[in-house]
Amino acid sequence: MSHDLDSLYQDIILDHAKRRLNSGLREPFEAEVHHVNPTCGDEVTLRLHLDGDVVRDISYDNQGCSISSASASVMTELLIGKTAAENQPVFDAFLEMMRGKGQVEPDEDVLEDAIAFAGAAKLTARIKCALLSWMAYQDALARAQEDSHV
Ligand code: ZN
Repeated sequence: MSHDLDSLYQDIILDHAKRRLNSGLREPFEAEVHHVNPTCGDEVTLRLHLDGDVVRDISYDNQGCSISSASASVMTELLIGKTAAENQPVFDAFLEMMRGKGQVEPDEDVLEDAIAFAGAAKLTARIKCALLSWMAYQDALARAQEDSHV
């Protein structure tokens, strides 16, 4: 990765860590989960509001490092307003990139700003930071869908 690209990615992460888009817990919601990354001390409480299959809102309250805060911000920006099915390829691509140890060539068309975490994928200690809110979303989605189908 070129130095310029690295610093561009770093700017995106710092910008999102500062702005924390969609942060703060809101109502209504169908599922609330709390996830912890003990390696770094990051914590997130995340609420998911579904309207049929559409993700109407993802609200969260988090404490932790810049990577975990930025990741939650980017994720909500990407996933809110789309159906769970439309979000699945984005989720899968992010997971694949983060678990690829920097060997996976990320697709910017799918990942948009989330591509900025490509650098973090090479730092084993930061992978869980970047994945924390995404795993919380997946967990909340499973719970919300379980409840609506019972
Ligand atoms: Zn962290």
